[in-house]
Amino acid sequence: EVPEIATPLRTRAIMETYGLNFKKSLGQNFLTDINILHKIVAAGNVSENDDVIEIGPGIGALTEQIAKVAHHVVALEVDERLIPVLSETLAQYDNITVILQDILKANIADLIEKNFDGNHPIKVVANLPYYITSPIIMHLLDSKIRFAAIVVMMQKEVANRLSAEPGTKDYGALTTRVQYQMECHTSFIVPRTVFVPQPNVDSAIVVLEPLMKKHLEPYSEEDFFSLVKGCFAHRRKSLWNNLQGIFGKEPKTREKMQNVLEELQISPQIRAERLNIDEFISLTNKLIEVKI
Ligand code: SAM
Repeated sequence: EVPEIATPLRTRAIMETYGLNFKKSLGQNFLTDINILHKIVAAGNVSENDDVIEIGPGIGALTEQIAKVAHHVVALEVDERLIPVLSETLAQYDNITVILQDILKANIADLIEKNFDGNHPIKVVANLPYYITSPIIMHLLDSKIRFAAIVVMMQKEVANRLSAEPGTKDYGALTTRVQYQMECHTSFIVPRTVFVPQPNVDSAIVVLEPLMKKHLEPYSEEDFFSLVKGCFAHRRKSLWNNLQGIFGKEPKTREKMQNVLEELQISPQIRAERLNIDEFISLTNKLIEVKI
């Protein structure tokens, strides 16, 4: 019986055997706590019915625990030095495919088509490289794949933003963008001490799931996203100020905007953080209707 990858000793031993250093520039902080790994897999309810995409397998600590319960795991790793390591550390599992690939350059639909049989729910499970947390989540959401769950570890502060409620300081453009497409909650906090090397921040596991209740439909998603971005451009300023920042101060425009806000019963003096997703969508649609 081969020992599990996830211990500090074995992690360091594997890196030493291959003469490798941890690349900070690639966000390489490897998990070395088996309980945390079990909890991550459990947070996604991963079962033998699921196909799983893992982003950044590192030396395979999480990959191994996913493979023990899932149907098939496809792991994308950008660091070519780790490919021979993974083929050794994961040699005893026949349901893992490791691919040398930058996740941000991957065509997710193609990847799924080529590697999975189409008969299993697809989940994403990953201890993300923190320097590209938001771009990775956007890339997954932009793919429009209906993932059964996305379970991702990230810096705690980013997790707070993703799971934030309207009216709180963490609620912003990122929250709205992600919660527009998926339910989002923080599952549990992970202390920095369980990584090798230790990062300077604490982490959290976030679970994204398909929406329980549909939102209103924006006439244009692009307009909706850019309206939200614009409304949060200056967080401490009023909604009215930010709207003028986006659409300009021409008297005609201001009058139209005023009428729209009145119709939606939104006070111009509030801050954008007060608006929920449906209110942003209504605002987008009304502004389109009056041709702003
Ligand atoms: N899964 C391992 C674990 O939990 O111990 C490693 C997680 S480590 C935080 C992030 C991993 O993502 C590293 O192995 C790193 O090389 C990889 N990575 C960084 N940028 C990437 C990218 N653009 N595409 C795919 N993998 C990437």
